[in-house]
Amino acid sequence: MKWQDRRRSGNIEDRRGQAGGGGFMRRGNGPRLRIPSGRSMGTGGAGGLGLIVVVIVVALALGVDPMQLLSGGTTPQTQTDSSTSSRTGAGNDEASQFVAVVLAETEDLWTEVFRQNNLTYELPNVVLYSGRTDAAGCGLANASTGPFYCPADQKIYIDLSFYDVLRTQFGASGDFAEAYVLAHEVGHHVQQLTGVLPEFNAQRSRMSETEVNAMSVRVELQADCYAGIWANYAGQENLLERGDIEEALNAATQIGDDAIQERTQGVAVPRTFTHGTSEQRKRWFEVGYESGDVGACDTFSGAI
Ligand SMILES: [Zn+2]
Repeated sequence: MKWQDRRRSGNIEDRRGQAGGGGFMRRGNGPRLRIPSGRSMGTGGAGGLGLIVVVIVVALALGVDPMQLLSGGTTPQTQTDSSTSSRTGAGNDEASQFVAVVLAETEDLWTEVFRQNNLTYELPNVVLYSGRTDAAGCGLANASTGPFYCPADQKIYIDLSFYDVLRTQFGASGDFAEAYVLAHEVGHHVQQLTGVLPEFNAQRSRMSETEVNAMSVRVELQADCYAGIWANYAGQENLLERGDIEEALNAATQIGDDAIQERTQGVAVPRTFTHGTSEQRKRWFEVGYESGDVGACDTFSGAI
């Protein structure tokens, strides 16, 4: 990815090197690009996910952008005053500079998409940490968690050593694989603002585990589709280099539930999937990349 000359986002909290950062032993289990458990989630509006599905279906039938109809889920940004001594902005190191550029590009894209739908895109923060850190409302984060989005404080948490794991354990190398992971988490923030994530988290306590998993897959595949939309935008901005899209597709393939489970436990158990198969993740990224249209990312109606 051609990124060196691009804008760096200032919405980075650098907590690397803080107390608690050292000496943590990473557990052996694989990282998950998870959405956090149902604790301390923002409250969803009335209606539930069923309503969202209906809204999306109706919206698609009407040819209206679903995001316009889902604006009820928009929540005000909580200005959390970080009590920890984090530094604002990326460090001088290349890894954090790269994150700051990718984040800035997502800010530009989603601000414009939301504006076109008469909505305001509230910029998420990215917390860089090493070892472990407290994710307000979402518990302790550590490197084995993998990057994740915390709806309670609308921040994306990432231990940059995950990128080493991605490369060495998952066989997903390349800067655009890293960009894809970040764009996927930003996709969850978009879902938070459109109401998809609050509704899911409001509904999940009333669902069986199998149902939660099945709905989680749809949520995750939409985030992959949104990552693809960002990749489409990166292409329009002439940031793509040869092989970039292949790097993202390879990463999506390597972190599919079936691939991870076959690697770690020898056999894949579909009812336990929470993020989708390799084929699904790759395909929904491609849907977003090829269409560049949020309306194409309807993973809630029909087969996925
Ligand atoms: Zn995710």
